[in-house]
Amino acid sequence: LNQRQFMVHEVLDDIVAQIRHQVPMDAVSVKWEYDLNLGPVTGDTDQLRQVFSNIILNAVQAMLPDGGTLRLTTRRHGPGNGCIVEIRDTGKGISAEHLEKIFTPFFTTKDTGTGLGLSVSYGIVKDHGGDIRVSSTPGMGTCFEIELPGVDPLA
Ligand code: ADP
Ligand code: MG
Repeated sequence: LNQRQFMVHEVLDDIVAQIRHQVPMDAVSVKWEYDLNLGPVTGDTDQLRQVFSNIILNAVQAMLPDGGTLRLTTRRHGPGNGCIVEIRDTGKGISAEHLEKIFTPFFTTKDTGTGLGLSVSYGIVKDHGGDIRVSSTPGMGTCFEIELPGVDPLA
């Protein structure tokens, strides 16, 4: 891991801007609920950018073409700028049967999907000592929670 400090909010904003250029998402409204007390987070910026990018793109894709709301929430969690990033969509949701498989390599429900985004993301977050949790209601939407541990300045 190439551990560095970075601002999660900058990375998230950057990713949304990038996806806007790739995918027509005028029908998706984006809401931010950032914890402004969250300082720089420690981790491999490129790898974690990939994680957030995969999960945000999945969220947008789950809402198209009808549209919906993408909600990005952050909060401090534990010491040393540990944090939780919540990526919530109002898309089509995931059935209980599929929910068990989404982190399995090559599992996809998309015509041209690779099914690698979430399995790779899970590995990256675990490498950072963090965790990914997901909850979903078919027809209502999905919420991914990425937890990243902080680096305790006293440790
Ligand atoms: P891919 O996007 O290439 O299909 P992923 O590993 O990123 O591969 O996702 C695997 C599967 O998990 C998707 O095909 C989809 O069925 C499901 N999925 C992931 N995120 C969401 C979401 N936000 N809403 C609905 N389904 C999702
Ligand atoms: Mg994907």
